[in-house]
Amino acid sequence: MVSIVIVSHSAKLAEGVRELAEQMVQGQIQLAATGGIDDPENPIGTDAMKVYEAIEAVYDDDGVVVLMDLGSAVLSAELALEFLEPQRQANVYLCEAPLVEGTMAAAVQASVGGDIRQVMAEARGALAIKAGQLQAGDAAESPLAEPAGEPAETQGPVEQLRLVVYNRLGLHARPAARFVGVANRYESSISLSKGGAEANAKSINQVATLGVRQGDEIVITARGPDATLALQAIQDLADDNFGDRDEELESAAATAAAPVAEPVQTEDGAMAGIAASPGIAIGPAFQYRPRLPEVTTYSVTDAGAEWRRLEEGLAGAVQEIDQLHKTAIRQVGQAEAAIFEAHLLILQDPTLLDAAQAAIVDDRVNAEAAWFGVIEQTAADYQALDDTYMQARAADVMDVGRRVLTGLMDVERPPLEFDEPVILLAADLTPSDTVRLDPALVLGLCTELGGATSHSAILARALGIPAIVGLGPSLESVPGGQKIAIDGGQGRLWLTPEPDQLAGLEEKRRQWLLDRQRAKDASRRPAVTVDNHRVEIGANIGGPHDVTIALEFGAEGVGLFRTEFLFLDRQTAPTEEEQAAVYAEVVQAMGQRPVIIRTLDVGGDKPLPYIDLGQEDNPFLGWRGIRFCLDEPELFKTQLRAILRAGHGHNLKLMFPMIGTLTEVRAAKTLLNEAKSELKARDLPFDAQMEVGIMVEVPAAAASADQLAHEVDFFSIGTNDLTQYVMAADRGNARVTDLADALQPAVLRMIRQTVRAAHEAGIWVGMCGELAGNAQAAPLLVGLGLDELSMSAPAIPAVKEAIRGFTLTTAREIAEQALGCTSAAEVDQLLAKSFPGN
Ligand code: PEP
Ligand code: MG
Repeated sequence: MVSIVIVSHSAKLAEGVRELAEQMVQGQIQLAATGGIDDPENPIGTDAMKVYEAIEAVYDDDGVVVLMDLGSAVLSAELALEFLEPQRQANVYLCEAPLVEGTMAAAVQASVGGDIRQVMAEARGALAIKAGQLQAGDAAESPLAEPAGEPAETQGPVEQLRLVVYNRLGLHARPAARFVGVANRYESSISLSKGGAEANAKSINQVATLGVRQGDEIVITARGPDATLALQAIQDLADDNFGDRDEELESAAATAAAPVAEPVQTEDGAMAGIAASPGIAIGPAFQYRPRLPEVTTYSVTDAGAEWRRLEEGLAGAVQEIDQLHKTAIRQVGQAEAAIFEAHLLILQDPTLLDAAQAAIVDDRVNAEAAWFGVIEQTAADYQALDDTYMQARAADVMDVGRRVLTGLMDVERPPLEFDEPVILLAADLTPSDTVRLDPALVLGLCTELGGATSHSAILARALGIPAIVGLGPSLESVPGGQKIAIDGGQGRLWLTPEPDQLAGLEEKRRQWLLDRQRAKDASRRPAVTVDNHRVEIGANIGGPHDVTIALEFGAEGVGLFRTEFLFLDRQTAPTEEEQAAVYAEVVQAMGQRPVIIRTLDVGGDKPLPYIDLGQEDNPFLGWRGIRFCLDEPELFKTQLRAILRAGHGHNLKLMFPMIGTLTEVRAAKTLLNEAKSELKARDLPFDAQMEVGIMVEVPAAAASADQLAHEVDFFSIGTNDLTQYVMAADRGNARVTDLADALQPAVLRMIRQTVRAAHEAGIWVGMCGELAGNAQAAPLLVGLGLDELSMSAPAIPAVKEAIRGFTLTTAREIAEQALGCTSAAEVDQLLAKSFPGN
């Protein structure tokens, strides 16, 4: 009789499914359940050896059907097969049917004497019963009811998206990581092709080594139940330039050059390398030469144990990189820290893991050698690309690879601690080493290899550490402790500077430090015009991780806290407690500075997996923002209660997005009052007097601003949406960017109308759309009467500096002239002409 093995990440789940099946078959067939791992701290997981033992326990020559939940359960079951005697292996079948339904159907069929073919077919068709019960249409036509001839994710509709990649460096590491991150959120199988070459869109290395460059046309093919959603998400990412800010890459690429093999001597006796991070450093040299013990290859008998060892090494590396990612966010901000997200994806890359597994299981090679072989090959693939930027990504692969090896070989990474400030000399520095550097103790950095676009160079710039790369192998012979000097901006290293050179460099360093301090101080000072008119400057943030950077750049508060991040990419809505904790983290970090928290602005184009938003023809004109929240009062009130609680004792304000009518504001306020009563009934402290504002981003709100102003405490103008709605031009459509320009006179008139209405009603008005961060537009916005401007943190210093350069009177004149312009281009010219920097 056919027997059944149930494999789950959870021992309880596996046992529960077995119990249920047992009830049906009453001991007529053999059933084994296995799940979890032997780690009391963290029992969720799967273990190939346990699966193997379960199969052996119920093995029958008539056949064994193995049903698994997901992910590593499948990997473990595959590996378990490898441990079986070959003749037994042939009788064991891994079944792709859903765990619960599949087990029940298979168990019943087996108990009535069905053969292995019948049992497998019954399991595969198991969802048909449920589909029929839920009237999902003709079950025979439903893709779910089809006997699965191939894995579930390759079924379902096939959709294609063709697009041209516009960002400066194509799908290099970080955009590739974002692309793979999005693809992995969907169940569908997704591939990416360029020319004749194809890559698995869920594999970071395959995507990155496909070598997609600016101007390339790529085709993305998705097959599966959520293919449409997946392609939409990828389209959105492409519209967002794959998350790249090209100006930064331009400046990095502009200084990039091929690494030099031999040092170039300049006429003043300096060695010349590649300028990687500006600044002057003088101090003792410190040789940092971490070495890994040799990786030796030997053959193993217990492939299962070896694979588990590699899995443990990988899990340890994931934890370490996660930690580094958090450190990097604090040190250098979200954008640069994304390097470590790419590192995590390298570790999870299915093609790498499959190759390592094949080496262990098929070739019986030890884990270190299997892993290192795969890593070296992948790094070589990057190096073979004819683009210097992509070649530099080999260092990232090696960094990740070495991290796993260090864990496997149980060697300590050499500490990066020093008794006195030093200039660090290394062959190359990995991103994870660079991010560990303390700028107070590492005065400068010199490496033999690397280019200006290597991730270490990017991180050194973000940390403000002067750096030169590509200095060549002779760097190794510099004795530790020798006093050396570097000019990172010029790419010069003096090994034995003459006294007069040293004096000149010391003076240059003093000036450099002074300039840095001035820039820092200036960004902390308020933004006050020449004639003493102050404008509040806030930061737009997406979560607690952005607060440090906001303060660093001189934010006086948070003008827009987008709360969507808490709600997306998860299977259930966040609880009140969870939200309250996150909001409290932000307000606590901001001290008594004002924080404006915007209630959920999802719907239409931003789907929530746990709420069926349906398909909309025009999502931007559909069920989003406040419209959605008013229809989902429980979800909305949960957020309102969390905000009210976090505001207790802090300067937290509440803001509703997408308001178009008075009715909506009143309905939202009614729910806010209900939320307050609920908190009162629970005897919880909250801010009963919290200020309430609205975003003015729908033209209807601007048109009726005089009425709305009497309902709320403040307005914040969202020019991103306001512009697209006023101009009827999609903010994400490249073909209508000229129209979707916030400098269009029609938009400016809407802003003026809103500001006037607010001031007449005695409330303040801010702006949190992208226009607020445009330094050149600062006189226009101040002249239009905005009281507060909120923007992404890095834009703050330039906007503050701009405001300090004009009088309110001039600003008003510029605003008047702009309102009289007949096109956005004319406004742009006017602003460029009056901007002191031009
Ligand atoms: C806006 O629309 O201007 C705005 C700030 O909101 P978002 O960009 O989040 O839609
Ligand atoms: Mg908006």
